[in-house]
Order: sequence, then C-alpha cells, then structure tokens
Amino acid sequence: MSTNAGHRGQSLLADFPAKEYAGLEFEGYEKIAAAQDRLLTGHLRYTAQRSPFYRELFAREGIDPHSIRGVADLLKIPCTTKDDLTLRNNDFLACSPEEIADVCLTSATTGDTPNALLQTSSDLSRLAYNEEAAFGMMGIGAADTVIICAALDRCFMAGLAYYMGGLKVGARMVRAGAGSAAQHWHLLKGCGATVIVGVPSLIRKIGQYAIENGDDPKSVGVRKLVAIGESIRGQDMALLPAVRQLEEMWGSAIYSTYASTEMATAFCDCHERQGGHLRPELVVAEIVDGHGMPVPHGHTGELVVTPLGVTGMPLIRFRTGDISFMIIGQCECGRRTPRLGPVLGRKNHMLKVKGTTVFPSFLISAAEGVDGVAGAYVEATKKEDGNDNIFLYVAVTDPSLSVEAISDCLRARARVVPEIIFITEEEYLGKTLPPGKRKKITFFDLRRQ
Ligand SMILES: [Zn+2]
Repeated sequence: MSTNAGHRGQSLLADFPAKEYAGLEFEGYEKIAAAQDRLLTGHLRYTAQRSPFYRELFAREGIDPHSIRGVADLLKIPCTTKDDLTLRNNDFLACSPEEIADVCLTSATTGDTPNALLQTSSDLSRLAYNEEAAFGMMGIGAADTVIICAALDRCFMAGLAYYMGGLKVGARMVRAGAGSAAQHWHLLKGCGATVIVGVPSLIRKIGQYAIENGDDPKSVGVRKLVAIGESIRGQDMALLPAVRQLEEMWGSAIYSTYASTEMATAFCDCHERQGGHLRPELVVAEIVDGHGMPVPHGHTGELVVTPLGVTGMPLIRFRTGDISFMIIGQCECGRRTPRLGPVLGRKNHMLKVKGTTVFPSFLISAAEGVDGVAGAYVEATKKEDGNDNIFLYVAVTDPSLSVEAISDCLRARARVVPEIIFITEEEYLGKTLPPGKRKKITFFDLRRQ
C-alpha cells in the first residue's frame, strides 16, 4: 500500500509536517519571520504550480512565484475573494481526485450551491494539529472531558476540527453536535464535562435551561468555555457584558477561538486571554484597508489570510470580510506571535450615519448587555441622502424596561443610536433562527433592495 503523505488511508491523526515548528512562537521575532518566509515560499510554489486558478492568476499578473521571497512580497499578489471561490470553485483544486479524503462545504456568495473546500489526508492532519495547538494553548488536555455543542456532520469543518484536536491532546470527547439546550444540558451533566465548545448564545441557553429546571450550571464543574462563531470582547478587549454574565453563570473562564472554513486555521486565546495567537507555522495574516493596502500596526481593517501547507484547495491572500486588528509584541504568556483582536463586524455590514460608522454586532452586544434583554437584531435600510436607517429590535423579558433605558445605554457606548423597537422573545427567535439555518441571523440588510 502506498504511504505517501496525501494518501486517503493515512491516519487522520498522523502528525502534520509543520509540527516540527511547534514552539516557534516562543522564539525571537527574526526567527519567527524567517520560518514564515520559508513556509510561505514553499506554499506559493506548490499552489502556483498545482492550482489552475492561481496558475492563471500568476500568468495574468506576470508574477514569477519564485520572485516572492517572503511575507514582505505578498502585496504583489492580488487578493482572492469569496466570489472567486464561488465562481471558479473547481479551479482551486490542486491535487488529484484520488487524494481528496474529505468534502467540506461553506456558504457561497451567490445562489444556493455551497462552495466546496476539498481536503486531502494531509489537510486533515493539518486541521487536527491546528486544533491540538489551540486546545493546548487554552490548557485543555488529558484530564478534560470536552463536549462539542456544534455540528460535526453536514460537511462542516469546525466540529470535525475540534473533535480531532481534542483526541490529539488526549481529552475525552463528547460529540453532542447540534441539538436542543435540554439535550446538551443532560448530556454534559451526565458525562461530567469540564469544557464546553459552542457558540456563546447557545452556551447561555443551556445554562438558562438548567436554571429554569432547578439545576445550577456551576454544579457540573465546567472550568472552561470555548467560544466559537461570535466575538466575546469589544474593541477595548474587555469582555462584553453578556459574556461576563455567562462566565458567572457557569463559574468558568471563557476563551475565544476564531476561524473559518476557508482559512482552516484557528486564532486562539492563550491562558492570558489577550487576543487570538497567530500560529506562524500555519497561517500568514494581514490587515488591509479598503484598497487592499496594509494598515499601520494596531489599526482596524479587513483580515486577509494565507493558510500555509494546505494541499487540497490552497488559498493565497484570501479576504475574510472580517474586520479586526492585530496586537503586536510579546504576550504575557511568553509567545511573540501577533494576536488577532476580536472580530468587530463584517466589512459589508458596516453602517454609516452622518460620517460615523458602526457595526450591527456592536449595537446588538450593547443591547444584550442590559439586564432583562433576551436578544436583539438589526435591520438597515438606505435613506435618500445616502445615510443608513438603523432599526434595533430588542426582545425584552423585563416589562419594566423602557426604550429610553436602552437608548441611554447605547448612547453611553456608541456614537450612533438607532431607532429601537421592542419585540417578544418568540418574535426574536422566529426571526433570527429560521429553520434549517446553522447560525443565528442578527443582521438584515435591506439597503440594496
Ligand atoms: Zn499569550
């Protein structure tokens, strides 16, 4: 039997070659930069040679892949967008069909057909290593029972990554998957989970279910909450009020991990919880402005990623559409890798009112920080003068709450105060959690209709 690295039968938990770089994040800045340059040039040469999309792009732009000597030269290469992936999906394949071991799907920019991100066995090993490193940074290991409250099926990548990474750190894994708060509560209580991996709003719902049924979430002994899919901090790096409440509810510390299917790499908190550490052996990250040019250190812009070492459908300078910023300098944990701040919003969700900008997620988290608010969502329309009309729908469970109280709270935190409309919790759930959708929808953009 063949034993080459891309063979389908390779153990999914085999070591990813870049594991030899583990520990690099504690080295000096120059050593980290040199390793990134080396890994990047190898990735570019593989991709330019094997991927029809990038072969064509390099030829069209007149770029010799060998002329890119490192991260500093990356700007010469145009960015890749989600639209490119949708329109040219098959042209991103850089391996033979026999080498594809796993089919991952992600939402497309247009139409109902999802984009495929096909993975080789080597990519699966990379994914497992990536999550092993993330769990390791959070101090999760063999003593832990980790419950995954996220889908592991339907071709989603994230649940699979957490599962494989958890196995690699030696934890006991509980594949709860997508389910109701009641199912999750009984399962995590029964197995004595010490770590919950899930979307913060779901973890809150599980805790609320427990409390409503006379139980105490703190009684289980969960010590860590791993937050996926939603930001848990504001731009000032402070935990959002609703997230602080979540920590109190469970008597646990919450950690942020940020990733996407396209980047296949997590930016994860260390035990200091001061931003998601970049893994230098797995990804090159840039923060760019609206023209694709780098912003000064610490400034806000769009995150652009080049996931290193991917062999199935490798990407170069992929625009994530997520707005964030980088924190440079040594972390208290000793690592010298840059840390990614919280995702402040989606680039195309930015709302503009009289020269000021705000993200729907900011308004929602501010409203959800008020006691007696069960949830909120934003709807935007376009005014004739070019400004955006913003409506904040707030589900309240406390009848004594007034629109003025929410307005005052928003005014203290944001320069833009939207029109506030009270709704019931039932109306909120019906609007934000339509049947069949994986993620809660909390922004309804009617500006282009
Ligand atoms: Zn750190």
